[in-house]
Amino acid sequence: MKKKSVETKSRKIKRVIKYLRFTGETPTDKKFLKKTINTPGILKATERSPMYGFEKIRNFLLDNFMSRLKWETIDNHITEKKTFKDRLVKILTIRQALGAGKGMTVSQYRGLSKNIEVPEEAYMHIDGATVWKELTTYAREKWGVQKIGFTEIPRDIILKGNHILYKYALVFIEEMRKDWMDDAPHALAGYETMRAYNHLGKAVLDISSWLRKKGVRCQPNHPLGGLVSYVPLAGKAGLGWQGMNGLLITPEFGQRQRIAPIYIEHPIFSYTDKDPTEFSWIERYCEICKRWLEECPGDAIQDTKKIYNNQIETIGRLARCLDPIKCHPVFSKFDGCSICVKICPFSRGNGIYQIIKKKMKN
Ligand code: SF4
Ligand code: SF4
Repeated sequence: MKKKSVETKSRKIKRVIKYLRFTGETPTDKKFLKKTINTPGILKATERSPMYGFEKIRNFLLDNFMSRLKWETIDNHITEKKTFKDRLVKILTIRQALGAGKGMTVSQYRGLSKNIEVPEEAYMHIDGATVWKELTTYAREKWGVQKIGFTEIPRDIILKGNHILYKYALVFIEEMRKDWMDDAPHALAGYETMRAYNHLGKAVLDISSWLRKKGVRCQPNHPLGGLVSYVPLAGKAGLGWQGMNGLLITPEFGQRQRIAPIYIEHPIFSYTDKDPTEFSWIERYCEICKRWLEECPGDAIQDTKKIYNNQIETIGRLARCLDPIKCHPVFSKFDGCSICVKICPFSRGNGIYQIIKKKMKN
């Protein structure tokens, strides 16, 4: 009896290896990722990996929590009663949120098994510089994605309990409109947040199909519900630096953006990693700024960044700044809140990043 179960297990592993070599039968897309979990060569989360924020929230949400929030601080941002336009925008937001939810739970797995149709040696014939040029043009012209990075993924930033198929990442960034984010915590900012999640999710799905046609095996990951911690990933790809609220700060958009990666099998593009000193002055600026102390209604941002892992290869450390358990009730009640995104000086754009950088470097 025991022998039978061992044989069954080994047969299962062989079948998965077959899938991974893309020579076997076509598995259904939804099951594809699950089936790869015990396969050698797969990139798995480690003991030191961070936990997915929602898990903490689910374990915590206490009914009486809302009464402990600093509601008076949110009043400073609420300038008028809900109008007909607000209600209309809310309906459109729900539509975007449903689209994003579908993208996160179903669509991103669609096409995953299509990697089987990409020949094993196809990547060897790719001219990385030419495809990179075409890729940036395609992403910008078709999807409005303005920033792309490419890097190797440190295993310690794969979220606990997860695994991904490939070890290199293209990191895509989509801007959220400033005039709409300035409406935070009103309906337009909530709409823009959900629109960006939904739109960027569709973009990485479509760009993955495009990449496969070029001979690149890949796995897209939706901006909602990532398998990897996106802010350190974008930092590793040289795109920006983590702000005090945990979000990414980029020179172009400050905190007004969403991030989504596509994992690929081979390092066919040049890495966009930058020397950390390019951005590390932002830490010192945040220490001076601390605007969230007064403004965050959830009291969700910690006074100093708490380092919880400082041994990550090529990144060095992971810091926790935002308490999602405190942020979440405000985020849900006020259209995605986003006050911290709006008040961050970097989010103003118009060259403010370079002005602050110059001051901090002198
Ligand atoms: S989104 Fe969360 S962290 Fe940001 S201001 Fe609102 S409650 Fe605070
Ligand atoms: S608001 Fe100030 S403290 Fe917060 S991330 Fe922006 S610069 Fe840093």
